[in-house]
Amino acid sequence: MDQTLKETLLGSIRTIPDYPKPGILFRDITTLLGNAKAFRRAVDELVHPYAGMKVDQIAGIEARGFILGGAVAHQLSAGFVPIRKKGKLPYDTVHVTYSLEYGVDEMEMHKDAITSGQKVILVDDLIATGGTAEGAVKLLRGMGADIIAACFVIDLPDLGGRKKLEDLGVTVRTLVEFE
Ligand code: AMP
Repeated sequence: MDQTLKETLLGSIRTIPDYPKPGILFRDITTLLGNAKAFRRAVDELVHPYAGMKVDQIAGIEARGFILGGAVAHQLSAGFVPIRKKGKLPYDTVHVTYSLEYGVDEMEMHKDAITSGQKVILVDDLIATGGTAEGAVKLLRGMGADIIAACFVIDLPDLGGRKKLEDLGVTVRTLVEFE
């Protein structure tokens, strides 16, 4: 990726110290989404390796993964599958427990959202410890998905999420890094 794009993306992400709790530097992509040029360029960059490929579904993780994933799905003429926090989906679901930095949570998807063998790209705004994405990978693979890649705008490499996914055999793509 060229340096200007990297600078555009980095410059459009706002950092909020001590949110949601003391010591956390929250990387806020609402400022990127609100910047037409940065939003378009981020989506184009996420999409370009897969242009012309057969991609069946984009799976987006609640909530910022819905915004980015929806745009990516449109660009690739793929479907979109929401992976949501427990209790939000109206039909029968499959669910998984996943680890957060402190504790565990549950996420789920509709039991008929993916057909076995479908080619799927997972999308979220940021990968930190990788616990959330690991849970999503387990859900998708449990339904027989062939995960082409997991894509994130932001990587926090010190937290090891990329490695966690790569150890599961998942190709990881990220656009910018923060320490
Ligand atoms: P993890 O499971 O640790 O990889 O955390 C990834 C999920 O938590 C993503 O859905 C992110 O949106 C959110 N998240 C974790 N850390 C941050 C951060 N420093 N700034 C913004 N979002 C974060």
